[in-house]
Amino acid sequence: MIEHAVLGRAGGDNALWVRVNTGQQIHRLLFDCGSGCIGPLGSAELQAVDHLFFSHFHMDHVAGFDGFFRINFNRETKPVHVWGPDQTMDLMQHRFRSFWWNLHEQQTGSWVVHEIHEDRVEAARMEVSEAFAVRHPEPPGLMEPLIDGPDYRVTVRLLDHRGPSVAYRVDEGCRLNVNPERLAESGLRPGPWIQSLKNLEVSGSVEIQGQAWELEPLRERLLERAPGASIAYLTDFRLDESWTEKLVPWLAGCDVLICEAQYAQADAALALQNYHSTSTQVAELARRAGVGCLELFHLSRRYPEFIWKEMLREARAIFPRTAFPSVWNL
Ligand SMILES: [Zn+2]
Ligand SMILES: [Zn+2]
Repeated sequence: MIEHAVLGRAGGDNALWVRVNTGQQIHRLLFDCGSGCIGPLGSAELQAVDHLFFSHFHMDHVAGFDGFFRINFNRETKPVHVWGPDQTMDLMQHRFRSFWWNLHEQQTGSWVVHEIHEDRVEAARMEVSEAFAVRHPEPPGLMEPLIDGPDYRVTVRLLDHRGPSVAYRVDEGCRLNVNPERLAESGLRPGPWIQSLKNLEVSGSVEIQGQAWELEPLRERLLERAPGASIAYLTDFRLDESWTEKLVPWLAGCDVLICEAQYAQADAALALQNYHSTSTQVAELARRAGVGCLELFHLSRRYPEFIWKEMLREARAIFPRTAFPSVWNL
């Protein structure tokens, strides 16, 4: 399952927190790092982040990064992966190097920075023990998919923000579910053995009600594959007819679309001029892509609360399953 939370306040900096929970393992993904966004997650969650994905490096998306870096700069458990568009390596390395490093040689901690271009993904590893001075090249990666693991995959599109802003889509792998009718027919009582049944890394047999059962035939009889959940994160981009057309096939069928709604439709000209979108443009994108639901965030603080509510009404008239993050209480 995919759990998510939009971080930050309405009209303030925002970010997105995603947990892909397979039942056996939890993968933690953070999208952007605005000011004051990550604090509520707590250090234990932040120390377990697998990937930090930046859309782009405008201040409102990176101002909270120092807090993240402070918690993870010398993490020993696993490297920190950072992703972003053109210039990500320069900008990240400048931030890493902007501290005084004089007691770092014995510390361990690796950061792998991935830079997403139109036609390729470059990557380099930087070490705290070297004060992040050296870029060790890593093998180049693919755009499609950006990440292809057994539990989830990530694909991207480069949006137009007068420069690239990276949009991310996360798709969970197929889920294994126990068919309730077949379980009832089998006469077996549910218990901890279900976990072993669903975990394909476990082989051999399990004990159920005092009797040993071979796992493989049991899996064939009881398990069924269900499509996994999906979520997409799009922020800071210009959206017109041709962009909508380009994005619809990529977003088709996505369960949750987290999308900027910087401007009200009345300010469409301003949105275009500033390379942002309006709430109704975004709702039209959600409608045409047939997503499960649309969550609007990254609202302009130029508007009072009643205009935000009006923007939500405008969006719902086009795509009814639209909401603001529930914690905003708007
Ligand atoms: Zn921006
Ligand atoms: Zn922004």
